[in-house]
Amino acid sequence: MQGRDKPRKSENLQYVSTRGEAPRLGFEEVLLAGLARDGGLYMPVTWPSLSARSIAEFADQPFAEVAVGLLQPFVGSSLGRADLLDIARAAYARFSHPAITPLRQIDRSLWVLELFHGPTLAFKDLAMQVLARLMDHVLARRGARVSIVAATSGDTGGAAIEAFRGLERLSVVVLFPKGRISEVQRRMMTTPAEANVNALAIEGTFDDCQALVKAMFNDLRFRDRLQLAAVNSINWARIVAQLTYYFVAAVALGGPARRVAFSVPTGNFGDVFAGYAAKAMGLPAEPLLIATNENDILARAWRTGTYALSDVIATSSPSMDIQVASNFERFLFEASGRDAAFVRGTMQGLQQSRSIGLGTALKAYRESFVAERVDQAAVGDCIQRVKAQSGYLLDPHSACALVAAERTATTSQPSAPVARVALATAHPAKFPETLEAITGKRPALPGRLDRLLSQPERVTTLPNDLSLVQRFVERCATTVWGPGA
Ligand SMILES: *Cc1c(COP(=O)(O)O)cnc(C)c1O
Repeated sequence: MQGRDKPRKSENLQYVSTRGEAPRLGFEEVLLAGLARDGGLYMPVTWPSLSARSIAEFADQPFAEVAVGLLQPFVGSSLGRADLLDIARAAYARFSHPAITPLRQIDRSLWVLELFHGPTLAFKDLAMQVLARLMDHVLARRGARVSIVAATSGDTGGAAIEAFRGLERLSVVVLFPKGRISEVQRRMMTTPAEANVNALAIEGTFDDCQALVKAMFNDLRFRDRLQLAAVNSINWARIVAQLTYYFVAAVALGGPARRVAFSVPTGNFGDVFAGYAAKAMGLPAEPLLIATNENDILARAWRTGTYALSDVIATSSPSMDIQVASNFERFLFEASGRDAAFVRGTMQGLQQSRSIGLGTALKAYRESFVAERVDQAAVGDCIQRVKAQSGYLLDPHSACALVAAERTATTSQPSAPVARVALATAHPAKFPETLEAITGKRPALPGRLDRLLSQPERVTTLPNDLSLVQRFVERCATTVWGPGA
């Protein structure tokens, strides 16, 4: 595996902020910080590039080794290959399928990529299990501690609490919109008993939760005092950990020779941006398909060139009920030719007027992506139809992606045969109420989660108020670290 694809020790990759006013950092600092100090997101200075041959070689490697091959150029000499391999193997050992992310064929040239075999039944486990172990490893070596605050539309929170529970160097507080997530999602956050993980219900929407988290990061004194770290998809390491299944799926279907068209159910733009990154690193793939629900800001922007916020609509795919797609900023940075002043101006404009023109970035947006809005009626039809045809049960997020893939298969004219792959981001049993309403039958949780519905819950509720939330986060950290810390 000593190849020309890897940077040498002296060439450790550096990271820059999309807003251009924060210092360049190395991988460890980016891992521990998350958001840049100027409010921007970190991006690698350049994309590591993989040859077609080294991509093809992934076909013969276990999932954990592919993950390490993709992590290594981003991590540089910060962690050795042996340490990375230990981390990756331990992370994926928690998955219940030997292939980690198996493909399931739905039609002649249509597959579902199952990303939900982790401990919380959502694709977020794939990155979070790696992220928690990377952070713990780096903190242990430094003798340091951090406090994690995260906003969740349902799945990030459970994945984070599950991945970080019991790690002594990390205090975790997850903010979720009260009453807007499923019972299974809530219980995954509220039943772990470890004192270092805490669920916080906010009286508001996901965007309110996300705004509170951003405000805590932008309060630099609070941020430094609490050693705040982010594990949302704004954390670069999460995007890197999500590269793996794009490469693994593509080579399993005959890539790089055969082209693959990925359809990605999208909320915060993190997952689909990982697909964009995979392409930037050399993976041959068709333009990525952004599948949205009724919260269709990305699809409207694709059509009209205007990225305009509207109110959040509650749908059957709650993890996509998002208006402000945080990682879209990373794409704007790329699409503008890495023009930090453009990104800064655009993001300020968005905050002031709730609407921005994509300007010169629109052309790149239309070249790199296609966007499709899939409403709840279409999602319900799809779940019923696929179940009747093959007995296979989709969750609503995955169904969004499948509908989008089917629609574009009939409208787009690729130059060569294409394998279409819809990303299945959650297990249907994570949304039993919704599935029961659509199919008349309540899907059972996998046996390993039997106790979830009977364990006692632990949760605090607060209004959408920054200073109250900050006080809670501080109390959680000092409980874990002791008052002198
Ligand atoms: C988080 C999530 C999404 C959206 O992913 P983003 O990276 O935020 O675009 C889609 N489906 C499920 C089930 C999720 O948990």
